[in-house]
Amino acid sequence: MRIEISRKDAIRLIQDYHLLHLTIDERGDILLSNGIEVTDEDDKWLFDEILKEKYNETIRENFNYNTLVRNEYIELQVQALFNKEVSVKDSGKELDGKSAHACVCCGYKTSFDREFHNICPVCFWQDDFTEGDEYSSPNRSSLNDFREHFFSNTDTDSEIFKKFHK
Ligand SMILES: [Zn+2]
Repeated sequence: MRIEISRKDAIRLIQDYHLLHLTIDERGDILLSNGIEVTDEDDKWLFDEILKEKYNETIRENFNYNTLVRNEYIELQVQALFNKEVSVKDSGKELDGKSAHACVCCGYKTSFDREFHNICPVCFWQDDFTEGDEYSSPNRSSLNDFREHFFSNTDTDSEIFKKFHK
């Protein structure tokens, strides 16, 4: 049996799962990376502070998914965390990546717009608008070589590929 669930609710389930299952170190690390001071002068965790309710929304936000992420990927996450099969319903927004920008290197729709120096979360190509065999300094390679190296050294069945539309 496969319960139908809204995308918003599915994301909320994933967020709440993490909210309750993170270790105190993981929770502290997320808060620190959001610029929240949760350590003392000796860099030791302030445990009472880390566990406060006022930080829960920050923790949830850390597990948010933007509209580029496919519903199928969110279904897999719910299944992995709760051992339940769900069918995620489109929440009405444009979710299939129609308006998204495909990475010039790997071809996955990983950003909303083409932006200078944007780094692709799938292949890690940093877009400096170079093309073909032209040398790209930030990537220390040409686009063609980078792409070839990426696809010949990467398992395309891995999680990250399931996340985005191609
Ligand atoms: Zn890419």
